[in-house]
Amino acid sequence: MKEVTTDLLNEVLAAKEVKSSPRKKKEAARDFDTWFFGLDHTYGKCENPDCIDTRGKVEVMTALVREHRMCRFCFLGGWLDA
Ligand SMILES: [Zn+2]
Repeated sequence: MKEVTTDLLNEVLAAKEVKSSPRKKKEAARDFDTWFFGLDHTYGKCENPDCIDTRGKVEVMTALVREHRMCRFCFLGGWLDA
């Protein structure tokens, strides 16, 4: 039986880390920090046809993400974040 050493443990932990690492970094992390501090905002209509925020409204705060204007609900909901 193989002796459990610190080296072996580190090896196992390193392998686990690689396996569980998230998919490659997205264009913009869908969190509040990115929304508020990482994007330029303008008022307009969210381009998501299923948007819950712009229904019945003329303008909301939107940001250009993946060449589409979207509101914070769609941004945080991961719209177009394939
Ligand atoms: Zn929206």
